[in-house]
This record gives sequence, C-alpha cells and structure tokens, in this order.
Amino acid sequence: MSHSDPASQLDEVRAAALTAGVVVIGAGQAGGRAVEALRAQGFAGAITLIGDEPEYPYERPSLSKEMLHVADQETIAWVQKPEFYVANQIDFRPGTRVVAINRGQRSVQLEGGDVINYGALIIATGARVRRLELPGASQQNSHYIRTLADSRALRERLVAGGRVVVIGAGFIGLEAAAAAVKRGCGVTVIEIGQQPLGRVVPAQIGAYYESLHASHGVKFLFNTGLARFHQLDETVVVETNAGDMIPAEMVIVGIGVLPNAELAIEAGLAVDRGIIVDEYGRTEDKFIFAAGDVARHFNPLFDRHILLESWQNAQNQAIAIAKNLASPVGAAPYAELPWFWSDQYDVNLQMFGLAEPEANCVIRGNPATKSWMLLQLKNNRMICAIGMNSARDLRPARDLITMGAVVKPEELADVSVPMAEILRREKRERALVG
Ligand code: FAD
Ligand code: NAP
Repeated sequence: MSHSDPASQLDEVRAAALTAGVVVIGAGQAGGRAVEALRAQGFAGAITLIGDEPEYPYERPSLSKEMLHVADQETIAWVQKPEFYVANQIDFRPGTRVVAINRGQRSVQLEGGDVINYGALIIATGARVRRLELPGASQQNSHYIRTLADSRALRERLVAGGRVVVIGAGFIGLEAAAAAVKRGCGVTVIEIGQQPLGRVVPAQIGAYYESLHASHGVKFLFNTGLARFHQLDETVVVETNAGDMIPAEMVIVGIGVLPNAELAIEAGLAVDRGIIVDEYGRTEDKFIFAAGDVARHFNPLFDRHILLESWQNAQNQAIAIAKNLASPVGAAPYAELPWFWSDQYDVNLQMFGLAEPEANCVIRGNPATKSWMLLQLKNNRMICAIGMNSARDLRPARDLITMGAVVKPEELADVSVPMAEILRREKRERALVG
C-alpha cells in the first residue's frame, strides 16, 4: 500500500488535525511519545490521549528487569511527569477504553457511549500477552508481565527460597528468570522450542543464554509442552506433556504477545498480524495512523513491511508520525535500523538489524566470556550485529550495516582490528571514490 503524494496529502490531514484535533488511542510508550512530539513540534490543535490503563504513559522495559530486582524500590520510566499533560493542554483520559472507530464521521466511541471527533487519529494500542489455555491455569497462579500492575504484583511475590517456573524462554521469560535468581529463587524454564530466544536471534546466541542461565542454577526443559496445572494449597504443580511434575510457588508466563488490532479490523483497515501502515505511518485511510507494537510498517531499508515489538520502534515511529502531522516542511519517512537490548545478570545484549536464518554468522571474540559479538553477513554485507557487553564495537557495526559496506569476515572475526577502524577505512574509501 502506498499513497501517491505524501506531502500534499499530509497537508490536507494536517489542516483537518488543526481544525478537529488529534486523537491518540493507547497511552503507552508510542501514544505518550506521539503527544509529546506533537507539542514539541509546535502543533497548536487539540490533542486527546485515551488509555485504558490507570497510569500516565510509561515505558515497559524495567518491568521485567529493575522493577523485579529489589523488593521495595520502584524504577518506573514515565514518558512525562503528570504536570506535563496539563501544562501542554493535552486532554488525557486514563482508565478509558475506545470501543469503536467511525471512519465516516471521523470519530471514536468510548466505553460508556461518549464520542470524540478527530481530524487525525493515531492508533497506538500496543499488544497484549498471549495467555496459556490450560486446565488448572488461572489468574491466581499464572503471572504475566505487561503492565505496571503485573510487575508490582510479581515483585511482591518473589521471595528468597521460592520455587519459580517460567513458561517460555523468550526475552520476558529469561529476564524474569534472571530477576527471580537475583531474588534468591530456584528457577525452572519450560520452552516449547529447542532453545532460548528462538524467535529473534541465531542459535549461537540462544545457546549462550542457556549456559549463562545454567551457570546461575537455572534448569531448562526444551521441546516441552504443558498438560495442566494442579493447585495444591499454596503450591502449583506444573505437569508437562512428558509427564514431569514440577512444583512451584510461582509461575511466570512469557509466551509472546498479540497486537491489539481489533479496532482497526472492525473499522475495515488492512491488518496482517498488525495494522498495515506505510513509511509515514499511514493506514489506507489518510486520516488514520498507527505506531508501535500494533503496527506493521513499510520500512524502506528492508523494502518490506515489518512488525517490531521494541522500545526504539514505539518511540521513534510515534515521533516520526507526530513530526509529519505537526510540521509543514514536507514529509519524512520512518526508516530506522531496528535496535533493541536486553539485560540479564551482568550481560547487556544489544542487537542492530534483523537476524536472518540463512545468513552467514561470524563470531568476534570468545563466547566463553561475557563480551563477544555475532555478526551476520549476506552477500558480503553485514545485515545484523548482536553484541554482548560490546557497546564500543556495536556503534560502528551499526553504521557499517546502514552504509551497506562490503566487509571481510576474517577481519570482522579479528578482535585486534577495532570495528571503528573498519568503519573509518570504509568512509575514507567512499570519500576518495566520490
Ligand atoms: P504499549 O506499551 O503496549 O501501549 C499500548 C497502550 O494502549 C496500553 O496501555 C494498552 O492498555 C492501551 N490500549 C489498548 N487498547 C486500547 C483501547 N481500545 N483503548 C484505550 N487504550 C487501549 N523493548 C526493548 O527494545 N527493550 C527491552 O528491554 C524491552 N523490555 C520489555 C519488557 C517488558 C516487560 C515488556 C512488556 C516489553 C519490553 N519491550 C522492550 C518492548 C517495548 O516495551 C514495547 O515494544 C513497547 O512498550 C510498545 O509500545 P506501544 O506504545 O506500542 O504499546
Ligand atoms: P517471545 O519473544 O515471543 O517469546 C516467547 C517464547 O515462548 C517463544 O520462544 C515461544 O515459542 C515460547 N512459547 C510459546 N508458547 C509456549 C508454551 N505453551 N510453552 C512453552 N513455551 C512457549 O515473547 P515474550 O518473551 O513473551 O515477550 C513478549 C514481548 O515483550 C515481545 O514483544 C518482546 O519483544 C517484548 N520484550 C522485549 C524485551 C527486550 O527486547 N529485551 C524484553 C522483554 C520483553 P514459539 O516462538 O515457538 O511460539
């Protein structure tokens, strides 16, 4: 899907937004950053931010990390202080759910029946956790981590000596496992696939995280499905398909998320596991945009639509849309190389680019240590860089990816050649050519 003339079409939408206002559905990270950026860019029209959680917009990464590490200290990254919304004349409606979008009227309907008109609409409804459908699993014995309320409840229940079963070895599951270890719990991770992090990173990284967690006493069960939970007083017994019985005081579930795209589907917008938007964040309705975990955006760097569930994407895609809506100086596409991080124990992982199963892998450094990298190459160009405690090399690696530089695997594997030096040489050669 592509609109013909983004600049003139955005002019029309901008005019409508100034007259009838911008409505943002979802007061998470993308929603919060969108309204902040609209005002920062000088947008003078009305802004309404509608979120069904009771809190002001906040960022979620600490919920499975710092928030769980200590019992009595909260580390919440608020997008803005509460007074910001009043000072900037943002009509913030917490604890309020949008139940329908009426594209003909250009309005949204709230639970309870109220209707709010918009000139431009930004859907930033994020994602919700995929729930375990299992006999015996209940709200009382299965903890999920998506909201501040989830993280607060979990934090209180992590006690030294407790037994924790984690279902799912994705980032949520592994970060929660590391937090539980830090709080003195014994942890077993049950994963349906054959290794951790199978969805997003190459097998070598999954194997590394398996041994990192094992070195902290975490036990893994791979290729293992679940049969049922048995609740015996304060103990949950997790029965696997293989017949194993694992008793625990606490079960934490991290088996992925589902985009909150139902409003868009009911409004007749194109959705393919995420609302389809172009590089300007526009759906096929020029007055409606989508950003963050709920959006599958066209990314010119990859020449295809991608759905990212990450902090960077939630923030920067929302800001890009707000800039285009607020500023009359032309339209800029959102085209960023994906980046995300994870903190587990004393290892900070950062990844630039998207890993591809068929790409060649080059190892830089020693995976038996806490600091090494995996670089993926396709047609002699780097497409993805994943570094453990390797911030210094990651930045130049990112630039080599975005430049599409031709690289030599043996040089990348040689830690005595600084990545910054490879980048400098590439820049010098390009300067000489033209
Ligand atoms: P959300 O933050 O989910 O916000 C959407 C909001 O919309 C929610 O408040 C939702 O309740 C609300 N909403 C939904 N439907 C409606 C409706 N009909 N009406 C009103 N409101 C509605 N990314 C990283 O890059 N690094 C990390 O280390 C990292 N750690 C993470 C840890 C955790 C525990 C989680 C859950 C995520 C983590 N992420 C991380 C991912 C990152 O936080 C998300 O990609 C980001 O929060 C997405 O922002 P969003 O605004 O699109 O969605
Ligand atoms: P995820 O990355 O999809 O990982 C879930 C894992 O659980 C997958 O390996 C999945 O296998 C497995 N699984 C699915 N059903 C299972 C079952 N019944 N039993 C056992 N294992 C099962 O999702 P997540 O870790 O829950 O994370 C949720 C969201 O939070 C994502 O958007 C993620 O990006 C975000 N997040 C990001 C970070 C970070 O970037 N550092 C940290 C935390 C959270 P299949 O793939 O085969 O289904």
